[in-house]
Amino acid sequence: MTSIAILLAAGSGTRMKSIEKKQYMLLKDRPILYYALKALEDSYVSGIFLVVNAGDEDLVRRDYVEKYGFTKVMDIVAGGNERYHSVLRGLEAAENYRTAHSLTFDRVLIQDSARPFLTKDILQRVSDTLDTHPACVVGMPVKDTIKIADENGMVDHTPNRNLVWAVQTPQAFSYDLALSAYRKLGEREQELLDQGIVITDDAMVVETLTDTRIRLVQGSYENIKITTPEDLITAEKILDSSKNGLI
Ligand code: C5P
Repeated sequence: MTSIAILLAAGSGTRMKSIEKKQYMLLKDRPILYYALKALEDSYVSGIFLVVNAGDEDLVRRDYVEKYGFTKVMDIVAGGNERYHSVLRGLEAAENYRTAHSLTFDRVLIQDSARPFLTKDILQRVSDTLDTHPACVVGMPVKDTIKIADENGMVDHTPNRNLVWAVQTPQAFSYDLALSAYRKLGEREQELLDQGIVITDDAMVVETLTDTRIRLVQGSYENIKITTPEDLITAEKILDSSKNGLI
């Protein structure tokens, strides 16, 4: 079973309010991007397709991939304006590589570089789940009660908390399923936008454009996404308290 990963490191990260793009900011003594890359490099994944901002390809190759000796990065490509554009470009890069080298890819994991705490356990649960399901998404049950608001900021309804999950990455799929769903999205993007459908994660692409159902997989409450400056402080604490397995 050949698994590959698309590692997303494009986007401006404006909510971090920093001059430096957040994927290159330091968490302890390593760039944020390093941690997910290291977890994937040390895993069963056989190839990594890295998606970065247009113009950053050479810098990332030199200062992040070569500097730390990562060997599984097969290609570094430019992302797009939205996260899903970046994923589609990563998948197309993987498909070009697969065809050029006459390879078979069975599975693809899509990972945010802004989530540094990808562990071996999570990766194992993803792999086990894909043995029986074509699509899965890592997440955790929410601890807070969630309210769905209307456009005026009034509570519309309250979903049953026991059934609400906050999703994380990796989100993982059979390779052919992910490629065809994302290609369909590329063709139907405007139509979906016109219907008010805003794609915010990979599972949603598969939910919206195919009949495949998606299995939820337990991630961890520490598998946070670094979005705002406070998240960086939390991430440092998680790193300090982690005994092993993260880096
Ligand atoms: O902006 P946000 O933190 O939600 O982004 C989640 C992940 O998606 C990040 O790792 C970011 O690098 C990536 N991304 C991307 N291309 C975009 C937007 C975000 O690769 N256009």
